[in-house]
Amino acid sequence: MYDVGVVKYKKPLESLQKAIELAGGFGKIGADTKIILKPNLVVWHEGVNFPKYAVLTTSRMIEDTIKLLIDCGAKDISIVEGSVDLGKKTKDSIIALAAKGLGYDVLKKRYGIKVIDALQSSFQKVKIDDVKLSVSTDIMEADCVINMPVLKTHSQAMVSLGIKNLKGVINIASRKICHNKDQNINLNYHLTKLMEMIPISFSIIDGIYTNDRGPSYNGRARRSNIIIASKDMLAGDLVGATVLGIDPATIPYLSDAATQNNRPVDLSDITVKGDVDIKNELKPHIWEYEQEDGVDMPDWMIRSGIKGISMPKQDLTICTYCAFLFNKLVMGLLMAKNKKQGYDDIEILDGKIQTPTAGHKHTILFGQCQVKLNKDNPLINHCVKVPGCPANEEDLYKAFAEVGIELPDDFSEWVEKSPELVHGQKYKNKPEFDPSFYTINQP
Ligand code: SF4
Repeated sequence: MYDVGVVKYKKPLESLQKAIELAGGFGKIGADTKIILKPNLVVWHEGVNFPKYAVLTTSRMIEDTIKLLIDCGAKDISIVEGSVDLGKKTKDSIIALAAKGLGYDVLKKRYGIKVIDALQSSFQKVKIDDVKLSVSTDIMEADCVINMPVLKTHSQAMVSLGIKNLKGVINIASRKICHNKDQNINLNYHLTKLMEMIPISFSIIDGIYTNDRGPSYNGRARRSNIIIASKDMLAGDLVGATVLGIDPATIPYLSDAATQNNRPVDLSDITVKGDVDIKNELKPHIWEYEQEDGVDMPDWMIRSGIKGISMPKQDLTICTYCAFLFNKLVMGLLMAKNKKQGYDDIEILDGKIQTPTAGHKHTILFGQCQVKLNKDNPLINHCVKVPGCPANEEDLYKAFAEVGIELPDDFSEWVEKSPELVHGQKYKNKPEFDPSFYTINQP
């Protein structure tokens, strides 16, 4: 049986300590134990006060974990992560900027921890069956890796918990491989292999905030106050999905991971300990952007009054990098000066497998994979390419102009700030959304 501690977050340190004890404790830790914490810092927008609720691991959980490890005798603790680089030229690496913004610089001084940008460090090839990926050497050589994901949904993988969080410590080429176009070895398949590749000693799932339609800030966060702890990453993830109200048996990669390890997906080999009714504590979370079969746009785009666009439902093959730029495309559709008139029958294709439908006036091929796949497709009348891997932002703006989408004059500056100006507004004047969870108190 696998023990999973699930507690309500009530107090700093105390609540986490209880969850860890219920899960059986960290195990043997000493001054020589090389410990790595792997938070989820999926994205960082420097200079923009973007909402971090249920997007990033809270700094509260990070500091409490460090304190508890030090109480066990730990002296060698590093935080390792490789965030999505949005292509902005900055003097410091994204992780260095995020570390500063989240208060990790204070943790460095206070506890002597290190912060390592996985993408600027070395990788080593790891092979499991037919999958070979480049994994952070720091992670592979650690004595103890503590995985610290957020308790959140994911619009492709359904949930993003411990296993999904491991994608942050493989190199960029490997991340692209994970979003494979071959449906037999798709993202779900790669996630099950990642679980086998990377040895995790302990999982702490941070559910102080959870979200609908994650994994980023364009979903909606909730204050949920849950902490899940386990020595077994899969057990933690199965419980995490259940807490989110999503049956793990319906989540392809969790169900496959359980089956491949001869384990039940129904939690029957897990002992849940703590004061939380995992099936009823939270209202079920929604993970996807609904779009009826055969309908041109996601429901929310129809509701927002967009007309003249055809956009197939997004699949598992679009990488996170292209997906972040795709958000800007969507923002352009929402903000264009001529939105009310309706657009001129524009089809938009992304990822690695979408194909055009006959009869549209214009087809935008978003990203190099699309350009390669469909540039000569005879079903396309007017082909508008946004090449690049990931798709190039300048070319996106040219594409808008070419299909008659009239962006506001200051759009490119505005869209950089949109995580704050649009998504940040959802949490204004709601005291349960407390930004201090993402900072470290200074004396
Ligand atoms: S073009 Fe986009 S979807 Fe294709 S491999 Fe590059 S980042 Fe991934």
